[in-house]
Order: sequence, then structure tokens, then C-alpha cells
Amino acid sequence: MKGQCPCDPEPVFELADGSLAPEREREIRAHLRGCSGCQTLYERELRLNASLGSLEFEEANSVCRGVAMALPTRSTKARLLWAALAVVLLLTASVAMMLYGTNLAVLVIDAMNVFWGFVAGFADVIQVIFAAIGQALLVALAIGAFVDLVIAAVYLAVSRRRAIEA
Ligand SMILES: [Zn+2]
Repeated sequence: MKGQCPCDPEPVFELADGSLAPEREREIRAHLRGCSGCQTLYERELRLNASLGSLEFEEANSVCRGVAMALPTRSTKARLLWAALAVVLLLTASVAMMLYGTNLAVLVIDAMNVFWGFVAGFADVIQVIFAAIGQALLVALAIGAFVDLVIAAVYLAVSRRRAIEA
């Protein structure tokens, strides 16, 4: 479903871009006066063009900063979440390497076993694949649960702080 009116939006976009021939432009402008759907689309497109225009070149940085300042709570929360996620992933990776280091090596050997097992026999392949998948699943579940916990904790901390500020 597009817009409120069944018209082709393409001429409206071209009118907003100023890329229509004068005669066609008069036509479309006349249509806009009688069609609120196209009129709304035209105004929205003009605003979009204006904001896109202000994003260009050396102004991009200041506009981005302006947008970030306009959404302080949201961007802080997002930044906190991303920072926490990055730290957690880093920690989890190092812990996993320490705790599961040998298992990871086993996984690699298992993967090679899968290849050789393919040559050796079908039953062996199934056995090795299941063993490898089981270990990978355990690691993935542990990491997933830990990440969920930390995200929940960060979210709680942030919403509590926002409640105090409000
Ligand atoms: Zn229309």
C-alpha cells in the first residue's frame, strides 16, 4: 500500500527535485491543487530534500552532532548498550578462549575428523557431527544467556537513572 491517493508518485518526486519540464511542471502543480495525497507527498519530499541537502559535504558532521544532541537519552542508552555489548563480547571471547580453549581445539580436530570420517564411514560422521554441534551449542547458549543478562542489567540501570532524573 502506498500513500492515500492512487496517483503515480514519480512526477511528484521529480517536481520536488525541480527536474520536470516547465509544461509538465505546470500540469503536476495543477494536479497538486486538487489532490491532497499528492500535495502531502510533495511537501514531505520538499522537507526531506531540504534535510538531505543540509547533510551534504562539510556540514555532515555538525548535522550529525545536532541530531545526536537532539536525542540525548536515546543515543546515550544506545551508546551504553553498544559499549556494554562490545565489552561483554570481548570478555566472553577471552573467557571462552581460556575455559574452552582445549574444547575449541577439539572442535577443530572434530571438524577434521568429519572430513576424514566422511571417507571412513557414515556412522562415524554422524557421531562426530553430533559431538561438534553439541559443544558449539553449549558455548553459544552460555554466551547468549550471559549477553542477555548484561543487556537486561544495563537496561534496568539506565531506566532507573532516567526515572531518578525525571
Ligand atoms: Zn494525486
